[in-house]
Amino acid sequence: MSKDYDPKEIESKWQKVWEETGIYHAGDFSDKPKYYTLIEFPYPSADGLHVGHPRPYIGMDVVSRKKRMEGYNTLYPIGWDAFGLPTENFAIKTGKKPQVVTKENSDNFRRQIQSLGISFDWAREINTTDPKYYKWTQWLFLKFLEHGLAYKAKIPINWCPKDKIGLANEEVVDGKCERCGTEVEQKEKEQWMLAITKYADKLLEGLETVNYPERVKAQQRNWIGRSEGAEIDFKIDGGQTSVKVFTTRPDTIFGATFLVVAGKEDKFTGKYATNPATQEKVPIWEAEYVMSDYGTGSIMGVPADDERDRVFAEKHRLPIVENYKKAGFEDFGKKVVKYKLRDWVFSRQRYWGEPIPVVHCEKCGIVPVPEDQLPVTLPEVENYQPTDTGDSPLANISEWVNTTCPKCGGYAKRETDVMPNWAGSSWYFLRYVDSKNDEKFASQDKLKYWTPVDWYNGGMEHTTLHLLYSRFWNHFLYDLGFVPTAEPYKKRTSHGIILDQKGDKMSKSRGNVINPDSITERFGADTLRVYEMFMGPFEQAIAWSENSLVGPRRFLEKVWKLQFKVSKGQTLGTDSQGLTLMHQTIKKVSDDIEELGFNTAISTLMIYANVLEKQEKVSQKEFETLLLLLAPFAPHITEELWSELGHSDSIHTQPWPEYDNSKLVSDELTIVVQVDGKVRGSFEADKSMSESEVLEKALKLSEIQKWIVGKEVKKHIYVPGKVLNIVLS
Ligand SMILES: [Zn+2]
Ligand SMILES: [Zn+2]
Repeated sequence: MSKDYDPKEIESKWQKVWEETGIYHAGDFSDKPKYYTLIEFPYPSADGLHVGHPRPYIGMDVVSRKKRMEGYNTLYPIGWDAFGLPTENFAIKTGKKPQVVTKENSDNFRRQIQSLGISFDWAREINTTDPKYYKWTQWLFLKFLEHGLAYKAKIPINWCPKDKIGLANEEVVDGKCERCGTEVEQKEKEQWMLAITKYADKLLEGLETVNYPERVKAQQRNWIGRSEGAEIDFKIDGGQTSVKVFTTRPDTIFGATFLVVAGKEDKFTGKYATNPATQEKVPIWEAEYVMSDYGTGSIMGVPADDERDRVFAEKHRLPIVENYKKAGFEDFGKKVVKYKLRDWVFSRQRYWGEPIPVVHCEKCGIVPVPEDQLPVTLPEVENYQPTDTGDSPLANISEWVNTTCPKCGGYAKRETDVMPNWAGSSWYFLRYVDSKNDEKFASQDKLKYWTPVDWYNGGMEHTTLHLLYSRFWNHFLYDLGFVPTAEPYKKRTSHGIILDQKGDKMSKSRGNVINPDSITERFGADTLRVYEMFMGPFEQAIAWSENSLVGPRRFLEKVWKLQFKVSKGQTLGTDSQGLTLMHQTIKKVSDDIEELGFNTAISTLMIYANVLEKQEKVSQKEFETLLLLLAPFAPHITEELWSELGHSDSIHTQPWPEYDNSKLVSDELTIVVQVDGKVRGSFEADKSMSESEVLEKALKLSEIQKWIVGKEVKKHIYVPGKVLNIVLS
């Protein structure tokens, strides 16, 4: 019985058992209440998993496992968000087919994730590049088209000359391509657009109904950028034309002494207009600080009331009128609402994406591909490089491009643009509920049972893009009656990333990526899991520290050895204090998991294990409670110890321990003893002990004696029931 802890042996053993018994498979339509936990599904890159990837997976695994033990029918799915540039660029470089690369990469990711013992329901696995999946992404696009929310427009797009790709505004950071850092150019091109702006108000209002962190809500509100104001016409002197300005402060019109239209540099146009309130002539300027795509692209300058207008006026010696008369909000111009949000550029001139399922017919114009002809699959090409005209490489495959019009039967050409990589992730959480359905994107009954997602954890970097896009798609589907709720996610949280040992971001180019395979090989998956949950607050970024893995490993070894102290059959705690600690531990761990306090939950379990270790005997009840609370964090070792206790059922299907409120407070207290402000010991005291009795007992403790021997106790400070500080100097 006294064998050593061997994670390798027990981890592979239990992973096999779990797979065979399918204990993490979520059945549809159970009588139990449902709980749907979701992580942002990974992009299967050629580099494989690094130690930062699993942090959110483990965090939500802890939640999912606890929910299962609490009696919920819990869905925790996984899949691959596999379209996009890295795989395409890899294909260009190596000549390998993206389909083959994606298969290899996702196989590797799956193996790595499975070795961590995460309780994903693999039976529902999806892949956005699978034609059976993107058939429905295309079908959803056709719904947008049918309802006038997908349209073509010739617009200036952000063009990355290096990647040869059009970028959404969201993918341009400080004028540079988000992917490669190249300066972005403007280029006119016909693009498919999705009218997300039509949903701006619904996306704002919906935020009031969901449990998201306030900073996430604030970012979404800022991104949508709703402002109420007025459009006011200023007549240009000597002509019939006028300048239309947008202002959120029409009441300040009497203070407007100049107009500014968006431009590349500060310059006077030589023209004047008339302020309709004061009837004064005001000069019309161009300036960079006015945004061409916000409001009307023109503003009235009110230097007395607006800081940027004041700076501009002082620089160019324009008049500043203080203490002017305020106008009523509606006196001049007409009331309008403006948004910063722009419609979503939905075309990409690339290969590795979902083909947009329409044809162009000379007679009929744009014709959607009929539903029964979906999916429009990606043909094989020789060369994945975009063409020099900026068209997709698909444009070069004439046998694919040339087709017949579904409407008139005449000659037609296929659309060669593909969708952006945000498309597949805009609805994947809906597909999980019915991932094998060939008739519908998901059945109504299953959507009604499983959605909305109860808890969605993801990165802060996806707050304005993926989170907004997927909420938009869900709102749209709700309006069509396809999903039961407007909002897709009830609760959203985010995790901090894991940095390298020096505090830098891990990336292949920096060469500082740590592969979890080497960690599980040396320490075991349970140690890696406990370490990643223990290393710091879940929501904060934190540096990896190889040396710190030893602590969690020793903790698990301690738990392992406790089995040899267990008095089997003894069901109660040892004494009233032991019972209190047990109930306090249950409460603390239960509460902490709900609040993302994984690190404090583990330290609570460590304290509990230390106390049990010091006892001569540990009751079966105490040990089982420790194992049950630890099971979500370290599923393999707890499963092994549970079966060693003689149980034939999995620990992961046992009820979560409950605490008894009346047992949370003990008659005994722990008094911490400090000497000159440093903690040197502690002891158990009865609640009724007086201050002098406490001091007397503290001075007799051997661990205190050694600090005070031969010295004079000057005074002591007592915080009743908590801390006694003995002051020597
Ligand atoms: Zn680029
Ligand atoms: Zn036609």
